[in-house]
Parts: sequence; structure tokens; C-alpha cells
Amino acid sequence: MKILVINAGSSSMKYQLIDMKDESVLAKGNCERIGVDGHFKHTTGDGRTYETDVVMNNHTEAFVQIKNALIDEQYGVIKELSEVSAIGHRIVQGGALFSESTIVTEEVIKGIESLIPLAPLHNAAHVQGIKACLEVFGKDVPEVVVFDTAFHSTMPQKAFMYPVPYEYYEKYAVRRYGFHGTSHRYVSQRCAELMGKDIKDTKIITCHLGNGSSITAIDGGKVIDTSMGLTPLDGIMMGTRTGSLDPSVVTFIAEKEHFSPSEMDTVLNKKSGFLGISGVSSDDRDVSSAAADGNTRAQLAIDMLEYEILKYIGSYTAVLGGVDAIVFTAGIGENQYSHRENVCHNLAYMGVKIDDEVNKKAIRGVEGKISTPDSSVEVFVIPTNEELVIARDTMELVK
Ligand code: AMP
Repeated sequence: MKILVINAGSSSMKYQLIDMKDESVLAKGNCERIGVDGHFKHTTGDGRTYETDVVMNNHTEAFVQIKNALIDEQYGVIKELSEVSAIGHRIVQGGALFSESTIVTEEVIKGIESLIPLAPLHNAAHVQGIKACLEVFGKDVPEVVVFDTAFHSTMPQKAFMYPVPYEYYEKYAVRRYGFHGTSHRYVSQRCAELMGKDIKDTKIITCHLGNGSSITAIDGGKVIDTSMGLTPLDGIMMGTRTGSLDPSVVTFIAEKEHFSPSEMDTVLNKKSGFLGISGVSSDDRDVSSAAADGNTRAQLAIDMLEYEILKYIGSYTAVLGGVDAIVFTAGIGENQYSHRENVCHNLAYMGVKIDDEVNKKAIRGVEGKISTPDSSVEVFVIPTNEELVIARDTMELVK
């Protein structure tokens, strides 16, 4: 069974065609700058690459590019489109409506649309992606939606409520939802496998550290708390996002600078975090190299990030009542070994010990344990694979 996995953004659409026989990636690519000018890149599992500037006015036109590339004589990986058995879509916000992956129906599309106010940029683009897919592939190819929020739906109410007047929860569904759920789910399951344990018998803290970052506490395979909230702005500091802060900071700056809510939103989402503190870049690699060259604001950004990771691990260890394993994943978690080293050395008080040499080598897609055999908590680096989870869920549902 071959499954096409789609991640549709407002101006981009990433895809992977996965052969479920051995879970190999047959082809992957990205349609960028949809509705602007358009750039398309397609790479096959055996290393053939096709790249071109091509106007894509909308998601349907982007899908036509994907379709043509998949069956192209030179760059294709299948003979006919009918070889695609099903399509799985990543959906950012499932709200309280969707606690698990589901087959797309008219009603499901309406449900995702009804959640647009909670994730205006993402959910609107996802719906465009689903509709474009229906147009190009037709109704006979089943489509499945997999939600970033679903894995977090097990959080108890005391963890997901915000202490604002209850009426806003009732009227507008204002609460913590959490994101990156597919990633936290994948790495926690993989972690239990690597530990040789049933996930039901584990307490795991997963650190998804990338351009967007979130940390999750998972007890027996069920999320009990997570750092992102109503939107992906909450939690630890990120590339351009603040993470949590005193809400008065927002009203104070907005008043001083005469910012409208949407201007303030831009400051919080696009101009803060690593970029705002360092003044160098939102990218950890740039900030780390500036810090190594003596840039003190870049060093401060790094110190703040590591401090926040440490704080979350400490507080989540408390809410879990102990921790068996800590997992690092995503661009920063999988590659920036110095952050892992600094965080883990500061966890020595709870018996965490890592092998610094093993840790240094766990980069660029390497999966493995970086803690020493006598560490009281196992520490892993596990490259995330959200596309695979989407493909697996899709296969399960259409089978
Ligand atoms: P992500 O959002 O998961 O793609 O992660 C992006 C972040 O990971 C950026 O801050 C990058 O600086 C950081 N990063 C560090 N090393 C790498 C690497 N080898 N490949 C990709 N991202 C990296």
C-alpha cells in the first residue's frame, strides 16, 4: 500500500509518498510560494531530483505538480496515480472536536473549518489542501486527517484550563490544546521500544526543540501536560516566538508602542525568541556560531533556552512523580548537542548522567541513547518522523 502524506501550509505544501510494505520514502518534495510565484522540488528515494520555478496560483495547481512528478517518466516513482491507496493530511488544530485521526467526510471538513478561529493560518490552509486533493485525486482515494493536538487530548482539565473567567472557556473554547502531538507520540513510542518496556510502564518527558518547540510529560503513554497552549506561542522560547511570559508584558508594550492586537501578535510570534534576544537570527546554528564568536546577546539567547528546558524538565518530573526517560528531538534537539550537554549536566541532582562523547556523535539523524548505564534516567536522541505516523494512521483507518 502506498500512502501520500500531505502537509499543506498557506503558501507551501510538503509531501511524501511512503511505501507501507517497508515504510520507505519513495519520493518527497515541496511546493513553495503557492499564490506568489512558485517553486517546486521533488526528490526520489533513490536520489533523483527535479526542481523548477513554476507558477502555482493555488493548492489545486500545486497538487497537479505533485501528481505529475509522481508519475513522470524520468522522475516518477509510480506508473499510475491509482497506485496511491490513500492520502493522509497533517492538521494543526483539532480542538476539542477531534481526539484521534479520522477519515475525511463532508462533516469532518466542516469540523476543521469550524476550528479556523483557533488556528487561522493553519486550518484554513489544511482545508484548501484537502479540497484540492479531492479535485485532483477524486473521491475514490480515501483521505485521512491526523491532528497535531490529538495526542494531547488526554490532558486532565486542571492542566489544560487557563485561570481566566470560566465563561471564555465555555464561549470560545479558550484552553491549552498543545501541538507537535504527532512528534511527541512518535518519539515516546520509539523511546519505550528502545527501553525495551511497555509504554504503559513508563514516565517520559519529550523535548521537541526546533524552530517551534514544545515539551511534553507522558505517563504510561498518555499526555498529562504539554508546554504549548491555545496556540503554538506558549511554552519555551523559540526561533521567533516568545513562549510563556507575564501577560502584562503584552499589554504594557502594546500601550507604550501603540500596537494593535495584530501588530502585537506579530511582535510575539515573529520578532521575539532567539531572533528578538540575539538580534542575529532565529536559527540556532547562526545564534550558536555568533555566541562562539563572543556575541553576548547570542549567548544570552542560548542560556535562556537551556534554562527554560531545564525548568520544564524539572516541573514535569514533579507532575509525573519521577521520570524514566528524557527524549530530545527535532532540528535543535537532534543536532545541537551542546544544549543537550548543558541541560543534562544540570540534571545531575536527579541522577542524570550522559556520555559526552556519545552525545556529540548523536547528530544528523542518529538515533540512540546518550545516557550512561549508571544514569538513573535514560536519555535518548530520537529523530522525529511525523510523516510516518500520519502514514501509519492513514493505513490503519483505510484498511
Ligand atoms: P526544525 O524546526 O525542527 O526544522 O528545526 C530548526 C532548528 O534546528 C533551527 O534553529 C536550526 O538551527 C536547528 N538545527 C541545528 N542543526 C541542524 C541541522 N543539522 N539540520 C537542521 N536543523 C538544525
